[in-house]
Amino acid sequence: MDSVYFTPDHETFRASVRRFLEQEVAPHADRWESERRIPRGIFRRMGELGLLGILFPPEVGGAGGDLFHAVAFLEELPRSRMGGFCAAVAVQQFMATRHIWSHGSEEQKRRWVVPSIEGRAVGALAVTEPDAGSDVAALRTRAERRADGWVVNGAKTFITNGADGTFFTLAARTAPDRGAGGLSLFVVPADAPGVRVARRLEKLGWHCGDTAELSFEDVRLPADALVGEEHAGFRYLMEAFQLERLCSAAIAVGSARLCLEETLAYARERKAFGRPIVEFQAVGHRLADLATATEAARQLTLHAAWRLAHDLPAVRECSMAKLFATETAKRVADECLQCYGGYGLMEEYPAARFFRDARPHTIVAGTSEIMREIIARRMLE
Ligand SMILES: Cc1cc2nc3c(=O)[nH]c(=O)nc-3n(C[C@H](O)[C@H](O)[C@H](O)COP(=O)(O)OP(=O)(O)OC[C@H]3O[C@@H](n4cnc5c(N)ncnc54)[C@H](O)[C@@H]3O)c2cc1C
Repeated sequence: MDSVYFTPDHETFRASVRRFLEQEVAPHADRWESERRIPRGIFRRMGELGLLGILFPPEVGGAGGDLFHAVAFLEELPRSRMGGFCAAVAVQQFMATRHIWSHGSEEQKRRWVVPSIEGRAVGALAVTEPDAGSDVAALRTRAERRADGWVVNGAKTFITNGADGTFFTLAARTAPDRGAGGLSLFVVPADAPGVRVARRLEKLGWHCGDTAELSFEDVRLPADALVGEEHAGFRYLMEAFQLERLCSAAIAVGSARLCLEETLAYARERKAFGRPIVEFQAVGHRLADLATATEAARQLTLHAAWRLAHDLPAVRECSMAKLFATETAKRVADECLQCYGGYGLMEEYPAARFFRDARPHTIVAGTSEIMREIIARRMLE
């Protein structure tokens, strides 16, 4: 047995995901990156293949998989060769829809989760604001109660799937004076009057990914747009953070492994001073160090997933996995690029994209500093 965590069924699933990504996604990567977009059709195709509902039960069209199916999927996602694609897909099925599934009404699940699993709808999780990122409790977008529902006013930024998505799972303030206890979640159709894509953001890395700034101006929502209980939004977000962090960690591990695999192949081929550069101890030892760090990141990520899958407290482990795996992926991408020499900087080689796509991971889904804060607080308890 190769791993105590993955069964033969997980590995068969992993192989099918890899095949799909290598045959149907990666060949388009250069074009989607330069066009700065992911065509909607690929979501439909993933829906047909059952790849957008891994954790959802078959009754709603999901695959009925467990957390290790999800981890195998996330580790494979970087085979798409696009960090932005990994983010878009992970947000769709493990973030935007998760809240609706965990806390929403049957009607909300029917209207938003089922089409998301089929790939007909694309979801975004809209939490971050221009003045409230790490400090989620400081967010100011308001949802005010009216006789017939809610009116939303505010702005969101850095929202993955924000410009091309079909709906937002939106965090908004429902009690102005209650801090974290005054936030609620809503489901907002992207075409609701008053919702506007203020800007598509140009960024370092994740080029194909849609990252947007959104504005909400007197957006009228029906009463049943509220997801779960009023004022429970912060708690819902905190609960879901463990899965979010695990997603980042598993994608980072997959991306570091792939980057190393490709760099090793290059280092065996590329010759200098009459021999393959991998035979220089400086190169070989560097790759050995990176492989060791990547394996450690993977084991920590799998351990965190195991705790989460067994309903054991996992805040510490998921935070450590997110911190260590994303920082490791960043280091791997940087040091692997060095092994390519000048070719590492050229767009026709993979190292440049690995390098820029590894960068956002230590910022999104909670920065490395915030992860350290959480871990340190746990140590003091
Ligand atoms: C490409 C991309 C995609 C994203 N996708 C989404 C999305 O889909 N949905 C969404 O809601 N958000 C999304 N985000 C937002 C992301 O979650 C935030 O950028 C992140 O949480 C940090 O918030 P901030 O950018 O406002 O930084 P700030 O919170 O302003 O932090 C700035 C710096 O201060 C540090 N800092 C802040 N507080 C502390 C503290 N207490 N202790 C130590 N250091 C601290 C931070 O670590 C950071 O280095 C995305 C961001 C990017 C870049």
